[in-house]
Amino acid sequence: MATILDGKKTADRKLAVLRERIEDSALSPHLATVIAGTDPASQMYVRMKHKACEQVGITSVGITLPENAPTRTVVDAVLELNRDADIDGILVQLPLPGQVDSERVIAAVRPEKDVDGFHPENLGLLFSGRPRFTPCTPTGIMTILTEYNIPVAGSRAVVVGRSIDVGRPMSALLTNADATVTVCHSKTRNLEEEIGRADLLVSAIGKAHFITPAMVRPGAVVVDVGINHLDGKLVGDVDFEAVKEIASAITPVPGGVGPMTIATLMENTCRAAKERTCDRAL
Ligand code: NAP
Repeated sequence: MATILDGKKTADRKLAVLRERIEDSALSPHLATVIAGTDPASQMYVRMKHKACEQVGITSVGITLPENAPTRTVVDAVLELNRDADIDGILVQLPLPGQVDSERVIAAVRPEKDVDGFHPENLGLLFSGRPRFTPCTPTGIMTILTEYNIPVAGSRAVVVGRSIDVGRPMSALLTNADATVTVCHSKTRNLEEEIGRADLLVSAIGKAHFITPAMVRPGAVVVDVGINHLDGKLVGDVDFEAVKEIASAITPVPGGVGPMTIATLMENTCRAAKERTCDRAL
């Protein structure tokens, strides 16, 4: 029976530490979120981020743009926040409506305020092994692995999914932590064979219960990023109940990776505030 990697508990601990750190310092971090449209899931994620800000003592402001906002409008909102000396971090909630060129919007965020870590400069730094701000979901995963003393260096890690928000930065973080990394995707041949070799498996596919116990090497560590709905329930990519019987450690859904993503956003925002304060002091 696997150790449950409790993301909720770990995130709560991280948030409590951050709260203390903010209370004990002269820091007054500010996070701005930008959302376009009324997608209920995006609205819920933004609400959760504002709630976490409140919990740790980060001031947050939310910019809501209409569903039909053109790219220029979203970029202008970001540029305004870039110029606002009170704002430390900017988070653009993705996905943006179809008419918006997301890449232009992400590239408009000042890299020093890019607490989501998606700006090409920050991704470049991550991939060159000199990370500054790194994407919150994979960074949260690295934190939970550290918290549970899961050895990463030298391990054979398999990441399923190559998105820019999860799979690719996950592979870079694991590489930087000295794992031997394989990245799989929908065109991977012999996917089951690749997955079966993993000491550490990270699944970021978005398909309910895609990962079955037959695929997983007994004793592997399994991290489930997926958020899927199945029979009215929130489930991951991994068939949790069955896989936990053979894995050595596993993240649940919900309560695994999700809370760590938000805690990491709070940490990144505090870091941005700290760096800005240091810059001003120079
Ligand atoms: P995405 O952009 O849709 O990427 C999915 C990836 O999975 C793609 O690389 C795709 O391959 C691959 N894939 C799809 N079907 C596959 C298959 N049958 N075999 C192998 N690979 C397959 O999704 P994402 O943004 O990375 O998110 C993935 C999941 O994580 C979603 O459920 C999302 O909701 C969840 N998520 C959770 C958090 C959190 O905080 N918990 C954060 C972000 C995302 P191709 O590249 O070849 O198409």
